Amino acid sequence: MPEGHTIHRLAERHRKLFAGRPVAVSSPQGRFAAGAAQVDGRVLLDTAAHGKHLLHQYEGDVTLHVHLGLYGKFTDGDGDPPSAVGEVRLRMANGEHWLDLRGPTACELLDPLQVDALHARLGPDPLAEEDDGGVKAFKAIKKSDRPLMALLMDQSIVAGAGLIYVTEALFRAGLRPTVAGRRLTRPRWDAIWQDLRTLMRTGVEDGRIDTVHSIHLPEAMGRAPRVDRHGGEVYVYRRTNQPCLVCGTPVQTAEVNARNAYWCRVCQRTR
Ligand SMILES: [Zn+2]
Repeated sequence: MPEGHTIHRLAERHRKLFAGRPVAVSSPQGRFAAGAAQVDGRVLLDTAAHGKHLLHQYEGDVTLHVHLGLYGKFTDGDGDPPSAVGEVRLRMANGEHWLDLRGPTACELLDPLQVDALHARLGPDPLAEEDDGGVKAFKAIKKSDRPLMALLMDQSIVAGAGLIYVTEALFRAGLRPTVAGRRLTRPRWDAIWQDLRTLMRTGVEDGRIDTVHSIHLPEAMGRAPRVDRHGGEVYVYRRTNQPCLVCGTPVQTAEVNARNAYWCRVCQRTR
């Protein structure tokens, strides 16, 4: 599933392509026909992302909410849209650009109260411009016995970080994925929160997840770049049994809350 930086990139791109002008909205597949008809021809005022949720705000207090889930995908291009192939749930076009959405988990219209409810059930987003979210997240983490990895991936506690960012932030902080939330101190949490903000902001800019310090980049270490469909240079994510980039110890893996956790038993001693 795409992590939050991908959704923030989409919000920026869709704003650039469509905001400020009327948009022709349709649902070639038909499953979103009624919703599409409701916003067809309206001006797209702005776009936003909260965690993995994308919002298109139309004039008239109507917001399109999209969650890509595992299979959702946007494609876009210049000029008029091509003839619709496959299950195009949502199509947008303004004469200069077009956009298609296939396979999302959610594609629906929300009124302002429903938008508020969505924000309310999501935790703070490290990619939000305002930086007070960390305090709120810490309160939830501090009162839990659950593993920190599970807490950071719980979208009601922190919205937007997925397995890769969480795994890597824990490595960079020297904490085992299994450390209980209540054991976390405020200074340590503040460092993790700021680290997530920085890493994910870089992800928005570059369109890939890189989490290693410059001294651990392939060129600095004289090693081959990572080959993985997720791309990017990481310390431990999906590097089971490969040597830790810092200390050389083989990377460990185990299931934590039904997800694969990865860590270095030497660099991540706190548990
Ligand atoms: Zn290590």
